Amino acid sequence: MAWVTGHQLRLYNSLGRLTEDFAPSADVVGLYSCGPTVYAYQHLGNMRPYVFADTLRRALRWKGIAVRHVVNITDVGHAVADSDTGEDKLELAAAKELRSVEEIAEFYAQDWLAALDALNVQRADVYPRASAYVDQMIEFAKVLEDKGYTYQLPSGLYFDTSKSAGYGQLALLDLAGQRETGRVEHVEGRRLGSDFALWRAEEPGVRRIMRWNSPWGWGAPGWHLECSVMSMSLLGAHFDIHTGGIDHRELHHVNEIAQSEAFLEDGRPWVRYWLHNEFILLDAQKIAKSAGHTLRLADLVESGYHPMAYRLFLLGGHYRSQVDFTMTAMDAAQATLRRLITRVAPLRPLPPVETLDEARALADLADDKAALAYVEAIDAAIASDLATPRLLAILQDALRDPEAGAEGLRVVVAAADALLGLRLGDLEPAEVDQRRTPDDLAPGERAAIERLVAERTQARAEKNWSRADEIRAELDALGVQVTDTAAGPTWQLR
Ligand SMILES: [Zn+2]
Repeated sequence: MAWVTGHQLRLYNSLGRLTEDFAPSADVVGLYSCGPTVYAYQHLGNMRPYVFADTLRRALRWKGIAVRHVVNITDVGHAVADSDTGEDKLELAAAKELRSVEEIAEFYAQDWLAALDALNVQRADVYPRASAYVDQMIEFAKVLEDKGYTYQLPSGLYFDTSKSAGYGQLALLDLAGQRETGRVEHVEGRRLGSDFALWRAEEPGVRRIMRWNSPWGWGAPGWHLECSVMSMSLLGAHFDIHTGGIDHRELHHVNEIAQSEAFLEDGRPWVRYWLHNEFILLDAQKIAKSAGHTLRLADLVESGYHPMAYRLFLLGGHYRSQVDFTMTAMDAAQATLRRLITRVAPLRPLPPVETLDEARALADLADDKAALAYVEAIDAAIASDLATPRLLAILQDALRDPEAGAEGLRVVVAAADALLGLRLGDLEPAEVDQRRTPDDLAPGERAAIERLVAERTQARAEKNWSRADEIRAELDALGVQVTDTAAGPTWQLR
């Protein structure tokens, strides 16, 4: 049969805000993703950038493109993302937890890596620690100083953004106007609001725990510096793709570009493709277990959800869409995962598939035209700016297709999972919690429960306590647990 060329991989480039054909510039594509600052647990929303970057890596592998992936670990604490001053969060955490900054950083880095493993995120090639690159950051800042891009203040060395041609292009900043915006804190002597610290000098009388000597005195590097220095050091001066959360598009990545292009001064864009994932909206009121605690993956697992259910929840939304995280959505994801695993388990073992070419060859071998069509549809979906919701729908269609033969279906499931990474080939149905969720109920059952809950609410409103207790016992017998909240009663299945 005639091999058709796969669909051209197209990605939405924040630099220019257009969906563009992706053309690798090297045999091995350099991919850099901004990683976590490790002074606390990473909450659920913080895991999305890595599942997204993992999907991108899987898409590149699917297309036969080799990747070298670098994800930094920020263990030199910066105060807050938009700030050049203030207390160091790592040092604060160390003081609070009575541990050394190194212990704090290592503990939270390991916790984050374990969460990535649980989410079946493939390990990056390198996880550089910022603390190991401070000498190189100082050298980098010296070059910028020699080239005239900086000025020094008592509070440190600053990058002069007025010297940066095209500053803020990534964020679509109106150059003249936006440079003066007051969204960052006041720094004495700073010329423009957009100027940022390359080196943060120690305040007089304050001795930081993590401190280095530099031509600008004792202190610590500015936060933006590490990503430019570590990415260039590990991927070369120019590389193809840089990813991160959408919040980085407005400031951190703008400053990474400004300092890197000033450092290189070669008239070329530093990085060609900038990809950003949107936020997960965590309903803090509903899901915070207690004040000051934000929901993380471990909490979901403790509540009986499988990490793959959270991955499925994430992939059910496009990476550039904001998605509301709710426990109802988690219940639905868990139920979908359970149905998927139950459906594919009899098809195992799945053939090993990582690339489109492998999937095509196997579908051809099975002489299954329908399977081949599904593989092509999967390719079209992932090539279209990583359309994972569409990919999931195609997988569901294939599994429901009465015409589909087992041999071809094996190939389709393996192909889909090469991109989705849901462990469809090895996750045991028993591993996925068997707890029923409202989604597992027949429509009639669910309506009956809701009717009882409403009757009980009515009885309570009429202060008919004995009737309310009666209904509660009835619900209890059905395995329904009712919780009364300020917003009214909620229920769940035990
Ligand atoms: Zn970064």
